[in-house]
Amino acid sequence: MNPTPLLNELSRRPLVCDGAMGTQLLARGLTSGECGMIWNVNRPADVGGIHLAYRNAGCDLITTNSFGGSLFALEPHGLASRGAELNRAAARVARSAAGDHGWVLGDVGPFGDFLEPVGDITADDLREVFQAQIVALIEGGADAILVETMSDPAEAVVGIEAAKASAANVPVIATYAFQKTAPGEFRTMMGTSVAEAVQRATRAGAQIVGANCGTGLSLDDYVKLAEQLVAAAGNAAVIVQPNAGSPRIEHGRTIYDASPEDMAATAARLLAAGVRIIGGCCGTTPAHLTAMSRAVRTVKI
Ligand SMILES: [Zn+2]
Repeated sequence: MNPTPLLNELSRRPLVCDGAMGTQLLARGLTSGECGMIWNVNRPADVGGIHLAYRNAGCDLITTNSFGGSLFALEPHGLASRGAELNRAAARVARSAAGDHGWVLGDVGPFGDFLEPVGDITADDLREVFQAQIVALIEGGADAILVETMSDPAEAVVGIEAAKASAANVPVIATYAFQKTAPGEFRTMMGTSVAEAVQRATRAGAQIVGANCGTGLSLDDYVKLAEQLVAAAGNAAVIVQPNAGSPRIEHGRTIYDASPEDMAATAARLLAAGVRIIGGCCGTTPAHLTAMSRAVRTVKI
């Protein structure tokens, strides 16, 4: 564990989170359809190499390779019985790459279905599943829990509650994926507004809230979204992890065009809007994060 509490450091200076994991795994040979979680055990040097590349890029926060680490996400891969082992390994690999001056965020992604009444999973069932994942991430050395890419505030709340129940004083970060529905208006896929998404998360106890990923958002959109997040967040710190611009499809492949310089300029604008943690989502690489972290260190807030 990093001996300096994350929230203390955050009150002193803005921090940089890391960038995309999935595309980096694919670049190292993960096949589509293969479960990236198994690499925490079978290919730890590859996963650790990605973490290290982000750490060397200047990232303070290293996110575990456990986005699909809930029981519900592991089941289709026949890995449900290995959840604790794979999540613990994810945190250990990240922990050793992060070192004593980096923090490990135990990553919890969406469970992949809808809660009741739209789906048939109850909040209690999901809380138990998330809690099992989070306990393993903390055992493996996570310093904080990141409940990310959420569309349904009810699911985010269950994730936050599960983190609080797993370890009373673990910092909890919750981020939502937004899309643009009208000029200047952002909603999650479930139709939740920025203000409601933020308030539900902070009321449940998240100390840091914000946005990651998203659909069809330009870099300008992320800045506008950041302003709304900061306005809604009150005393909570805000995190924004944009994609490398809005992607285009070419020959069936998704291409993200934003350059490291574009992302660095965006990072400076996000900081000016009041964001305290800046990272990257889809399409971002260690090269983007190198430029972004340089921008964060240079800008005086
Ligand atoms: Zn993404």
